[in-house]
Amino acid sequence: MPSARCPVCEGRVFVDASTEMGEIVFCDDCESNLELVGLDPFELDPASEANDEVDDGFSIFDEADEA
Ligand SMILES: [Zn+2]
Repeated sequence: MPSARCPVCEGRVFVDASTEMGEIVFCDDCESNLELVGLDPFELDPASEANDEVDDGFSIFDEADEA
């Protein structure tokens, strides 16, 4: 299984090959939620842990003041 480096603890995080951009993966080492932001190679960013209620997709338009 492919793996990526955790940006929080720099541990190895296994990423399923079918994981898509923007999906959240979990780091077992530091228990962080990580967002997949790159596929080749796999790249992870810390995901916001603030909202347990996931609002799928619509939030990206909320802060579009500049446009
Ligand atoms: Zn980690």
